[in-house]
Amino acid sequence: MERKDIKSMTKEEIALELAEIGQPKFRAKQIYEWLSKGVDSFEEMTNLSKDLRNALSEKYIVPSAKIARKLVSQIDGTVKYLFSLYDGEKIESVVMSYHHGYTICISTQVGCRMGCVFCATGMNGLKRNLFPGEMLSQITSAEKDLNIRISNVVLMGMGEPLDNYENTLKFLQLVNDDEGKNIGARHISLSTCGLVDKMYDLSNEKLQITLSVSLHAPNDMLRSEMMPINNKWNIEKLLTACKDYTESTKRRISFEYTVVDGVNDSEECAKELAKRLKGMLCHVNLIPLNTVSGKEYKPSQNSKKFCELLNNMGINATIRRTLGSDINASCGQLAGERNS
Ligand code: SAH
Ligand code: SF4
Repeated sequence: MERKDIKSMTKEEIALELAEIGQPKFRAKQIYEWLSKGVDSFEEMTNLSKDLRNALSEKYIVPSAKIARKLVSQIDGTVKYLFSLYDGEKIESVVMSYHHGYTICISTQVGCRMGCVFCATGMNGLKRNLFPGEMLSQITSAEKDLNIRISNVVLMGMGEPLDNYENTLKFLQLVNDDEGKNIGARHISLSTCGLVDKMYDLSNEKLQITLSVSLHAPNDMLRSEMMPINNKWNIEKLLTACKDYTESTKRRISFEYTVVDGVNDSEECAKELAKRLKGMLCHVNLIPLNTVSGKEYKPSQNSKKFCELLNNMGINATIRRTLGSDINASCGQLAGERNS
């Protein structure tokens, strides 16, 4: 019999499983609490009897994220983890310290199949989706290792979260649970390259999470060159989905725009972008391009001017601070074992 993944279950689901083997409800609560604390073997659940622990180990796995390597930035203390999963696959997560607390950037897939030309994650395609429990384990492993409590989660590491929709949604439910990690939806951001159908599904969930949309270009010709997904859903369809998302959730969209030297950083691009976003409830996050080995793109020298131009045209824009640059922990540089 294949063992089931217990960390991807809600407390209610664990209770149902335990009822099948004649265990009372409060046991489910105990197990759920251990899992939320980052315990990744039944052996360590010391308030359960030895017999129960053995029975559970035969039926379930705890999909842990084991630290394979840890790098700490000498510049700003950002920590990058390379985690090893139950099947030997590797993913990366980054913990950043801000004045309001700790934020973790987690991965949602091993690799990515979206093929954006400037990104390290997509270079070898998609290996597999992560389970909800594996997304959660990145948080619990980092908290345990650093002896901290993480207050904010961004789904901006390896992978496209909406390409792993069901698991991502279950993860959001688990991380939000007040008897689990209890991280409020408003402390969670999800970044997508623009899977429009899934954005509509997400908006129907009426979650209060922040949706970040990777835009990166003001017109279809340029965006299709940078992001193959634009051939499926162009900018117009994407921006319509964004407007509908704001309409139904009342949440402001955050657009990500990686500024690439000589590609999308001209005055013309800024004007075109401002025109397209005019009147939308949104914020533009300008991301300095992070160099990725094997890619010829260079960071723009023009970001500040680009930002000012947008602001002058009434578009709310800021330049994102780069953290962990000495340990390749910045946006788009996470690639599992390949470049870390
Ligand atoms: N797949 C999702 C989330 C992960 S990528 C998405 O694409 O939105 C997180 C962010 O980093 C995205 O905005 C992505 O476009 C950006 N990014 C990718 N490669 C980058 C690079 N080399 N430099 C700067 N940002 C990059
Ligand atoms: Fe995938 Fe996002 Fe990288 Fe594009 S930018 S390849 S969607 S991880």
